[in-house]
Formats: sequence, C-alpha cells, structure tokens
Amino acid sequence: MSVVIALAGNPNAGKTTLFNELTGARQQVGNYPGVTVEKKQGICVSEAGTFEIIDLPGTYSLTAYSLEEVVARDYLVNEKPDMVVNIVDASNLERNLYLSVQFMEMGIPVCLALNMMDVAQKRGIEIDVDRLSELLGIPVVPMVARTGKGKKELLAQVAKGIDKPASPLFISYGQDIDKALDEMEEIIEENHFLTDIYPARWVGLKYFENDTQILELGATRDQETADKLMDIGEKLQRHMSATLDVHPEGMIADQRYGFINSVLKQNVIRFAYDRNRLQRSDQIDKVLTNRFLGPLIMVGVLAALYQFTFTYSALPVEWVDGIFGWISGVTDAVLPDGLLKSMIVSGIIDGVGGVMGFVPLIMFMFLGISFIEDSGYLARMAFMLDRVFRIFGLHGSSVMAFIVSGGIAGGCAVPGVMAARTLKSPRERLATLLTVPFMNCGAKLPVYALLIAAFFPKKQAMIMVLLTLISWIGALLVAKLLRTTVIRGESTPFVMELPPYRFPTLKGLWIHTWERTWQYMKKAGTVILGISILLWAMMTFPGLDDTTTAQFESRRTAITDAVTADVLKEIETVDNAAELSPEARKLKDALAGIDGQQAQTRLENSVAGRMGKALEKISYLAGFDWRTNIALVGGFAAKEVVVSTLGTAYSLGDVDPESTDSLGERLAKAPGWGPVTAFALMIFTIFYAPCFVTVVCIARETGSWKWAAFSVGFNTVLAFVLSVLTYQVGSLLVN
Ligand code: GDP
Ligand code: MG
Repeated sequence: MSVVIALAGNPNAGKTTLFNELTGARQQVGNYPGVTVEKKQGICVSEAGTFEIIDLPGTYSLTAYSLEEVVARDYLVNEKPDMVVNIVDASNLERNLYLSVQFMEMGIPVCLALNMMDVAQKRGIEIDVDRLSELLGIPVVPMVARTGKGKKELLAQVAKGIDKPASPLFISYGQDIDKALDEMEEIIEENHFLTDIYPARWVGLKYFENDTQILELGATRDQETADKLMDIGEKLQRHMSATLDVHPEGMIADQRYGFINSVLKQNVIRFAYDRNRLQRSDQIDKVLTNRFLGPLIMVGVLAALYQFTFTYSALPVEWVDGIFGWISGVTDAVLPDGLLKSMIVSGIIDGVGGVMGFVPLIMFMFLGISFIEDSGYLARMAFMLDRVFRIFGLHGSSVMAFIVSGGIAGGCAVPGVMAARTLKSPRERLATLLTVPFMNCGAKLPVYALLIAAFFPKKQAMIMVLLTLISWIGALLVAKLLRTTVIRGESTPFVMELPPYRFPTLKGLWIHTWERTWQYMKKAGTVILGISILLWAMMTFPGLDDTTTAQFESRRTAITDAVTADVLKEIETVDNAAELSPEARKLKDALAGIDGQQAQTRLENSVAGRMGKALEKISYLAGFDWRTNIALVGGFAAKEVVVSTLGTAYSLGDVDPESTDSLGERLAKAPGWGPVTAFALMIFTIFYAPCFVTVVCIARETGSWKWAAFSVGFNTVLAFVLSVLTYQVGSLLVN
C-alpha cells in the first residue's frame, strides 16, 4: 500500500508549483466524486520513498462556506491521507496559519511547507523555523517551491513523520465557549455522535460555527443528540450576544488568530525593516483602489488588455488562417470532386478552421487575463466592482467569470463558467454561471464583424461598443431577475482576500494561459468537428430526386446543344474568364446560373432547409429568413458555426456562384436584409442559448441538467422577444 500525502493550503500559496515539482509528469487530473472541483493526483518517486500526492483545492478555512472547503474536508476525513503537507506563504504567515490550525484541531498529522522563503526574505521577514516547529509541535520545512529548494528536506520530514500519531490541537476559546464545549464533548462521546469520523471537540465547534454540512449530517445520524447540541449552541449564542456582543463564530476566529499571534510573537518572526513601514502592497493599494483614481486605472487596464489582445494577435490570426486556407487549397486540388471532398472541405476544414483561427486571439486574451490575475490586481478589481455587482445580486468575484467569457470582447464562456468556481456563495455563483454566456465571446465576434461591416460600415466601433454595453446590461438585469425569483435568497457575506501583489512568473502565466486555451481548442477538435460534419450532412441530404436533377440536366443540354463544339471546347480549356469569346462567356454564365439554381433547390430541399423553412413561420417576426434560421440552429452547436453556415447557405444558394462577392456583400444585396434585420440578428446572437459545450459545462458545474436546460430555454425565449422587439420597432423607425 502506498503512502498518501495531501497537499493543502491557501490559494496562491504555491500548491500547484510544489505539486508539479514533486510529481513531474506523473500526474492525473480528474474530479472529486459528484462535484466539479478538480482533483489532481500524482506519484512522487524520491530517495525518501514513493508517495502518492493529492493536490487539494485551495482554501482559507475548513468551514462549509464553499465547495472547495467541503471537498477538502471530506477528503481529509473520508480518505484519511497519511499526512497533510500544508503549504504556507512565509511572507503572509499569520493569515496562512489560520488553515494550519484547523488541520491541527482535526487531529490530522501535518507537516508545514514554509514556502516563498525568497519573498519573505526580500520583504525583510525573518522566520525562526525551529522555534516555529517546536511551538506548533509539527515539522516545518522552509522552501522555495519555484526553484525546488527544500524539496528533499520536505520529503525526508514526510517520510519521518508517517505513522507518528497526532493528537488534536487544543485551543482555548474563552471561558464561555470552553465550558459549553466541555458540555458538548461529554454528550458527543456518550452518544458516540459522529465520533467515528471527527474529534468530539471539533464537532462541538462546528455547532457553534453553524456549519451546515455537519449540522445536516448530525441531524440525519442522531436527531436527539443533534437537538441537544443545537440547544447548547443557541443558549451560548444568546449568552454571548448579551454579555460580549459577539457571535461565537467571531470569537472562535479571534481566538484562533490569538493562538497564532502568540506563537509568532515568541521570537518566531522578526522584521528586519522598520515594522511600521507600510507594506509595499498597501502603498500600491492606496493608489490602485483609490475611490477616484481606482476606477479610472481599472478602465485603463482593461483598455490596455483589449489593445494588447487585438493588436498582437492580428498577425498570428492571419498565419493560422493562411495555414487552413493552404490545407483547404491542397485538399481541393488533390481529392476528386464528390461527396467526400465536399465533406472534408466544407464540413471539416472550414468548420474546424473557423474555430482554430481564433486560437491566437483567445490565447493573447488569456495571457493578459492571467497577468492581471497572477499579479493580484484582479482581486482589487473584484473588490472595487463588488459594490456595483452586489446591486444585481452578484459578487465582485463574478467579474473574473464575465471577463473571461468575453466581457471586454473575445473570450469564451467555457472557461468563464469554470472561473465562477472561485465564488463562494452558491446563489451568486449560480447567477454568475447563468449570465456569463451573454458576454460577447470570441465566437460571436465574427458574426458581428460580418454584419457590422456589411450594414453599418461607417459606425463600426460605435456598434461594437453598443453591443458590449447591451450584453453587460442584459447580463446584470437578468442576474437581478434571477436573484429575485428562481435563485432568491441572502448572499453569504464574506470578506474578500486581497493577496499581496506579486510579479507573475513566466511559467505560471504560461500554465494558466495554456490551460484555458486548451479547453477552447479541445472544443474545436471534438464537438465542433462533429457538428460541422452533421450540419454539412443536413445541408447536403437528401439530394435532389432524379426527376428534378434530370430537369436541370435537360436545361443544360438545351443550351449546350445550341452552340458550336468550338465554344464548348473553349469553356473547358480557357480558365481565365476575361479571355473568353462573347459566346463562350454567355454560355458559361448561363450554365453557372443553372448550377446556382440547382444548388439553391437542393439546399431548400435538404433537412436543414426544411427545418429553416418551418421555423420561418415565426422567425419572420424578427426578420430572419430560412437561411438565417439554419445558421442559428447551427450556432447552438457552436456560435462559430453561424458565420460559416450563413456562408455555405448563401454561397450554395447564390445564383451566380462565380461571383467574387464576399459573404457580407452577398447579404447586403440579398432581399429582406437590411440594418434592422442585421441588428435584430446581433441581438439574438448575444442572448440566445449558450453553445452546446457551455451548456454541458453549466450542467457539470451546477451538478444538474435542470439549470442547463433552463439556460437554453430561458435565453432563447429572451433572445427571441428582444430581437422581435428590435426588428419591429426598428422597422417602424426606419420606414
Ligand atoms: P496555488 O494557488 O497554491 O496552486 O499556487 P501556485 O502554485 O499557482 O503559485 C502561485 C504563484 O506563486 C505562481 O506565480 C508561482 O510561480 C509563485 N510561487 C510559487 N512558489 C513560489 C516561491 O517559492 N517563491 C516565489 N517567489 N514564488 C512562488
Ligand atoms: Mg493551484
């Protein structure tokens, strides 16, 4: 049996860095059973032995306020790892030890990995490691995870500490709580209440902390004892409110910090610099989160992010487009005409290429976002925006999810939905999850680009800003609506963490950027590939019946029969239309016209065409014709598909397939199209059902298909109502 080590610590303490350092490539990523919190495990082979390492989710506490906390706690209790390696940020020791104390209270064997010693040193913080270890009664190993320094010593300590039983740390919580705890402990032990899982005193504490998970578990196990404990808890609460004007919860936190403080004060920690000097972070914060300057700087940072993304990605986007264009050209030349070629070129290369073309843009966007996040600035943004977001039933931390999803333009709702994991309150998290798909993700951009260029050529930037505003206002209002109806309820108050600023490392940036980009690329390789082929098939089959084909054929024969053999030969041998004789040219145009009509008839007759036609009965209210409908149905699979499907539908249906008109020009000329229709279509695109992959993610993140189905139905109805309004009002105004 292998020795199991759990890595635990606050977010940003360096867990992932240490995990990678220990396990190298021997890792495996999955999920904890039943929830969507990521579970990383790996094997560490070393001189000290072979260990199985689990990377627990980063938490600040072990209460049941967030999914991460519950997962971490359940893991520790149920799986009983042989040891917890608690990684703490030495430059922020007091705050970090808060979690360590809780592990120790649970009676779990802990080894402290005192990370970021380099940062601590730079800040002039000196830590007496031996003294700290002695006072806490656990091994403490100083290290710099980023360079691997201290890794060997850590493993040696771990090997040495295995099998040494740990007794729960005892912290005094003041006479009131201690007395009540004693009383509870007695009842708990007498009734063997949850004692198979947790230390008795710890369970008592959880009753004071109003820990929902433990309260529920207790009530189902043994209602009678649970009631008794609840009584004691309530009595204490009343007593403390009356005498000290505090909640037991607050008192418990105070005492834990008090314990930590008293440890640190015993010559464990020394500041080489003047202690009164404000920490650099605080000084920076005075400017960056200043009431007046803060928001201005934030707008500036966002504008810079936007500029960075779009300027630097332009060239790589061209390259990728070029590569796919080349592949498409080669395939076209190599394969014989027919269904296979049509499927590979129109279905696969155009479909997947359309998505891959956005990869550089997405990557630059995520690189910028990772920089903002890793440096600690994102937390300040959340902090400043919290007041606005709260009005709409969201939380400052929602901002990350919105921006990743395309809040500034060009993101992806898939990682956006995942970014909502950082939200602690389940209701705010759900409201965020359900509204981030309204943001203008990278897949919607080409739809706007196409329509704006074709119908609003003089006001491109203005319309783009308008669409961004509409998506934000829509998202916030819908969030408010949801929070006052289906997900009504108090939000969990919690203090936002403002970690010290840190200069991001290249490696960290790269990992964070790559993880998110990869999510996006995986979508192209799997879902979009399948959908492209499916849509291609739906637009191709069933082909025309023999009679209709024969009719077109006879029309062709009729005109070819009417000309001389020379002319026929000419159109077969001369490629350049300009060199053709007038007769040959006329013939060629006539034949192309028939080809176009045949293609149009075939598209109308195809499965997709029939669906589009059927939907036209209501979609005309918003000004959408059957071709647009096909594109929108395809867009449910992936929004990228909207443009490519419109392209296919309008080029297949074009009476003059030889024309070099771009899709935009074609649309501008097509009957029924105009600025109003285009705008209604953009409104629909903002709001309608999230793409298929996002829907799957919503289901996974919320743990239920109900919310996924809700977002499809609700968003589509909302989008339809809004686009009908836009079209109808717009038509009135324009005419
Ligand atoms: P996690 O949230 O606990 O998984 O933290 P990460 O492993 O992602 O680390 C957060 C940041 O701290 C990254 O940018 C790391 O490169 C950086 N980091 C990790 N360990 C050290 C260290 O010992 N010294 C310094 N200076 N930075 C570190
Ligand atoms: Mg991590």
